[in-house]
Amino acid sequence: MASETTDMVSETTTGPAPVPTQVQWVEDYPGVRRARAEHARPTNEDELRAVLSWAARAGRTITLRGGGQCLHGQSVGDDLVVDLSAFDRIAVDTASGVLVAGAGARWSDVHAALPPGWVLPNLVTTGAASVGGTLIADSASRFSSAFGTEADGVRRARLVTADGSIIACDREGPHAALFRGLPGSVGLLGVLTSVEHRLIDLRHLAAADGSLRVRTVARKHPDARSLLADLALELHEPPSTRAPRGAYGLLIPGGAALLFHSMYTHAPRARRMPNHRRKDALRVLLERALRVPTVNRAVWRGIFAHYYADGDHFVDDAADFAFFMDARTTARGPAQLLGLTSALVQQVIELPFVGTVGACRDVGALIDRCAGLCLRHAIEPMGWDVLPVRGDPPMRSHTLRLSTTIALGETDDEGKAAALFAAQASAALDHGGRVLPGKGVYADTATLAASCKEQLVALARLKEQWDPSGLFGGPFYRDVLRPAMQRASRASAGTTTDRVVDAELGGPS
Ligand SMILES: Cc1cc2nc3c(=O)[nH]c(=O)nc-3n(C[C@H](O)[C@H](O)[C@H](O)COP(=O)(O)OP(=O)(O)OC[C@H]3O[C@@H](n4cnc5c(N)ncnc54)[C@H](O)[C@@H]3O)c2cc1C
Repeated sequence: MASETTDMVSETTTGPAPVPTQVQWVEDYPGVRRARAEHARPTNEDELRAVLSWAARAGRTITLRGGGQCLHGQSVGDDLVVDLSAFDRIAVDTASGVLVAGAGARWSDVHAALPPGWVLPNLVTTGAASVGGTLIADSASRFSSAFGTEADGVRRARLVTADGSIIACDREGPHAALFRGLPGSVGLLGVLTSVEHRLIDLRHLAAADGSLRVRTVARKHPDARSLLADLALELHEPPSTRAPRGAYGLLIPGGAALLFHSMYTHAPRARRMPNHRRKDALRVLLERALRVPTVNRAVWRGIFAHYYADGDHFVDDAADFAFFMDARTTARGPAQLLGLTSALVQQVIELPFVGTVGACRDVGALIDRCAGLCLRHAIEPMGWDVLPVRGDPPMRSHTLRLSTTIALGETDDEGKAAALFAAQASAALDHGGRVLPGKGVYADTATLAASCKEQLVALARLKEQWDPSGLFGGPFYRDVLRPAMQRASRASAGTTTDRVVDAELGGPS
């Protein structure tokens, strides 16, 4: 990803950097946001603390980077990037059902380190992302209908804060507010060094050789309303840790929908889901074809009408099921050689799932609006994914995550995609939803501030407490999040956070 690297012994008026640094270009996963910055890669907490202290004395701004798979430049710094990839230790304790992983460990390595029959409640769909980066992005997965968000499976986290303090935080202890504020905090509160996750024991479902597979049943629905009714039934099922069930959906351009019900199994390998082949040469060509609007619609309709029969079932290896998005990364190399690369941009919105009737009405209306918007553009979404997220504690209402992914072809496509996403974000706000700041963020400042008001005000307060001098930041914070935090703080009467954010901006605007 880095296109140019210069070794350097960085020296400021405060002396040389405590670890070797390099100046290099980095970009986000879509390849849309790029910046050149000095990079430091500490290998332990002492080195990390020395880097933070040196950077603070030199007045630098630190951007944290784990797997570099962010969707909107969240880890693309333009001053000093602290790369956490050396924090990659993985320890599994099956007696207590706990995994402790370094925050820079890649999920593919974590998955590979699990003993046979043990799984994590949540695994994002790329093994290249890091343990710290996905918690900070408030991730959810295809088993979130059973287990909630990734953060719901985290028992404890260890951070180094801006002043070099080492903090262990969990749900109940003295730093519970910091712990709760981590998901969605985009690296603004401190550096995660390790994270403790609970594990699920599925040894009784493993095959004799210890392997685990996932059986998926496809249900065809004529429209989004029918898919949501199916999802509502699924969510009424009591969650089970002995036989967990996951559900996720896909809205097909033109109005039809697919809902996939998945469960772990020791059943022998069988027909695999077409998008779960992580090494698929045809993927390059298919993605290219999906960028042509008419072909896109025809392919999706063809897949819906002819590929899937209602009740079809598939059996995939658990790792292929979990990290299916890595097929795209695998295809990137050949695509680059053929000059066929394209950027994918994404936005994820979260909507309240308040019972079948309400959800069908609200989400259905939103989807209709999005579908209308998409058709007006020469670019097409690659699909809309629907992910139900079970609340934990149980009283928290279920939510739906709707992610829209758009392939960019022509040079002005990002502007069109941004306009579409901005309209989608404002429709989400009308329906009580919010845009997730840890993914693609195309909402304007007012919409972002209004839809995430509570979260942004809480984040501003935590930042004031844990990073009062503003050591952690970067372009995403400066240009996207901080203006929204400022606005949300203003709207929240009687807070002190206005002053903090104003002070960082150099006075009230
Ligand atoms: C192919 C693909 C598939 C995806 N699938 C899913 C999915 O299934 N579900 C889902 O919810 N999301 C998904 N995502 C989104 C993904 O969860 C986020 O992009 C995530 O941030 C990637 O983690 P990373 O380690 O690569 O992050 P980076 O890009 O390295 O960093 C992301 C953010 O985390 C911060 N950060 C990184 N490490 C630390 C640390 N140690 N301490 C504090 N802050 C840190 C960074 O400053 C930045 O703000 C996917 C993204 C891609 C590209």
